[in-house]
Amino acid sequence: DVLDLSKIAADKLELNFSEVNLDSLMADVFTLMRVSALDKGLCLRFESLQSLPLLVNLDATRFRQILINIINNAIKFTEQGEIVVRAWTEFVNDQEMLFFSIKDSGLGIAPEKQELIFKPFEQIADIESRSVGGAGLGLAICSELLTRMHGSIDLESTVGEGSEFIISVHPGNINGVQREPLKLDLTPNMQQKTAPCKVSGRVLVVDDLRDLRVLVGHMISSAGAKVDYAEHGKQALEKVRCAEQQGSPYELIFIDIHMPVMGGKEATIELRKQGFKGGIVALTAATMKGIHNELSALGFDDVIGKPVDSNLLYQTLANYLDDHQQTKPAHPTPEVPAANLRFLLLEDDHDAAQITQLLLESLAVETVIVNSCEQCIETLNTDSTFDKVLLDMHLPDGDGLTLASQLKCQHPALNLVIISGAEPDPQKIKQLEIEHVLLKPINLSLLTQLIEG
Ligand code: ADP
Repeated sequence: DVLDLSKIAADKLELNFSEVNLDSLMADVFTLMRVSALDKGLCLRFESLQSLPLLVNLDATRFRQILINIINNAIKFTEQGEIVVRAWTEFVNDQEMLFFSIKDSGLGIAPEKQELIFKPFEQIADIESRSVGGAGLGLAICSELLTRMHGSIDLESTVGEGSEFIISVHPGNINGVQREPLKLDLTPNMQQKTAPCKVSGRVLVVDDLRDLRVLVGHMISSAGAKVDYAEHGKQALEKVRCAEQQGSPYELIFIDIHMPVMGGKEATIELRKQGFKGGIVALTAATMKGIHNELSALGFDDVIGKPVDSNLLYQTLANYLDDHQQTKPAHPTPEVPAANLRFLLLEDDHDAAQITQLLLESLAVETVIVNSCEQCIETLNTDSTFDKVLLDMHLPDGDGLTLASQLKCQHPALNLVIISGAEPDPQKIKQLEIEHVLLKPINLSLLTQLIEG
């Protein structure tokens, strides 16, 4: 904190803004803070007043630091009742800002002290706060950071009733960003102190947030398994390789999806390619729609939503470790074809294109992505040596079948494949001499079949 503050004072604190999944960020904060709330017998609740943008532009590390500091204070200075976190967006001077309120039913702060707490080293010199107090730096840093995020911090508090901190940040341009209600609500009784099951085996926990790794790892070791940690996908691959060389491979891996260096999806594809046979469970924000199908196609066996529900975690351990020889889902390890193939993929949905590319590259197929009919035609005019051309049906500037007939005229030798959400008209497919139709969702076995012909 002192270091942060001196950097702020010298104007040397740099913020790193990037696209951040708001639900993942909030789920991480809740996973962590819930434990301290529960330790004090308090309820930590999230109340979403409206749908929120799923992607925002923030310095994730610093924003997490702010939320954790304020929620942590709320827990520290509350003896009974609850802490409620709310989030909403609101226009301030034509700019849509992201707001959070953190409200507690604790000690409260006297009016004359309310200004002071945002200044460094100011603490309220009363017995209660000194008995639990820190250095008095947290809120000063939050306030400085929020100013730098073009936001603000406000406080409303009544002694004896509680405090409400309201913060705002500039989330970048969120006009047009997909919005959904965040579901962070916690069913009661979720954080059990002792593990309800006893298991044995080796487990690897992969998450870039140290506190989260330690928390999940703690639950796992309390159930009897041996835990190792990795900070990102690359480190996980090394640990898995090492464990295998030592003759005691991991039976189960819990892996976060969004991590720097190498995320969970890429790591899982790589692990399956290398023949890892154990269970792989994704840790990800529960609100992400359609994630289950996508992840199972990539080689994951299961998904645990964040905030991590300890009962579900123990249940998963029991499934994979206790009697894992029988209950573990058999995972098909794809045969990696040796042929050096090159595919052109026309897909306008960015995520779908990335996933298909990842899957194809895991099967040693070099994949070039184009996202409109026009781009596809241009690419083929300069280079038509692709082994296959995969065409999505609905595109912003046309449809896959019309494009297919055009391409057949221009490049008769091309091997065309249609990717579609529904069975296309068989008559048309026959006319166009299209040999393969892939029905969505695309998965590894569909692509393996396609490659093997
Ligand atoms: P620290 O908690 O490390 O002392 P902070 O800057 O985070 O430093 O907080 C400064 C002071 O503000 C605290 O010591 C406490 O007296 C008061 N304070 C902060 N949050 C709350 C809260 N939710 N309820 C009551 N008092 C609070």
